[in-house]
Amino acid sequence: MNATRPTAVSPDALSSPSDTSLSTRLLGAATAFALGAFFVWGAGFAGAETLHDTAHDARHAMGLPCH
Ligand SMILES: [Zn+2]
Repeated sequence: MNATRPTAVSPDALSSPSDTSLSTRLLGAATAFALGAFFVWGAGFAGAETLHDTAHDARHAMGLPCH
């Protein structure tokens, strides 16, 4: 059979990364880097008690049985 299947989305309707301006992409990259650095350095330099309390609070936030 040689039937053509209709496409749900036209290729022209798909946005490409080049549609986003350079400044917008750089802002996103800088934000992601700052957030990542905050987590890595924040967790790296936080005290053991702070890390424990944070994990404990996360357990409570998720509704897991604790104490
Ligand atoms: Zn608890």
